[in-house]
Amino acid sequence: MLVGHYGAAFLAKAIEPRLPLPILAVAVQLVDVLWAVFVLLGLEHLRVDPSLPSNPLDLYHMPYTHSLVGALAWAALAAGAVFAWRREWLAALVVGGSVASHWLLDWVVHRPDLLLWSGSAKHGLGLWNFPVLALLLELLLLIASAVVWRRTRAVAGSRRRGVGVLVLALVATQIVFTVGPPPVGPLAVAGLALALFAAVAWGAWRVDGRASAV
Ligand SMILES: [Zn+2]
Repeated sequence: MLVGHYGAAFLAKAIEPRLPLPILAVAVQLVDVLWAVFVLLGLEHLRVDPSLPSNPLDLYHMPYTHSLVGALAWAALAAGAVFAWRREWLAALVVGGSVASHWLLDWVVHRPDLLLWSGSAKHGLGLWNFPVLALLLELLLLIASAVVWRRTRAVAGSRRRGVGVLVLALVATQIVFTVGPPPVGPLAVAGLALALFAAVAWGAWRVDGRASAV
C-alpha cells in the first residue's frame, strides 16, 4: 500500500489534533522508511518484476521491517519515543497505533510476502492482484479519512485548502505509481520511496506543522 497509509495519519490527527501532521505522516510510513533504508544497506531485498499487477515489486525478503513482530516492535519504540517527548499516553498510543496500522493495511494488499515472525509462513490477502480494486481502496482510505479530519474542529478554514492540495497530490502520486513505468531496480525503488516520504512529510508540515501545539 502506498498513499492509503496516509488515511491512517488523517484519522490519527482527528483523534489527537495536537500531534503535528508531519509526525503522523512519518509514523504511518515508518515501516516503509526503515524498509527503504534497509534495502539501501543491503539488509532487506526485493526484485522488480514488471509482470506483477498493481505493484511491480517482488518483496521476497523484509523480515526486520514488515514482519508482524518487527512492525509491532517499531510501533512500541515510536510510542516510547513520543511518551518520552510529550509525557502523554494518548499521543504515545496514537503514534504507536499509526506505526502498527502500516502492517495491517499492507496485509490487505500485499501478495503473501509478510512474515508474522522470522521463519513463519508468509501472509497477504493479495488485493494487488486486482489493480482496480487495489487502487480504489487506496484512494478511498485516503480521501474518506481526510474528509473525517477536515470535518473535525481541528482544521481551521485557512488550512482546508492545503489539505485538499495535499490529498490531490497523493492521489496523483498513487495513479502514477499504479500505471506508470516500473522503476529500474531495487536501489531506485528505495531512493524514490525515501524522496516521496520526505516530500509528503514536507507537504504535511506546510499544511499543519506550524499550527499544532507541541
Ligand atoms: Zn509497507
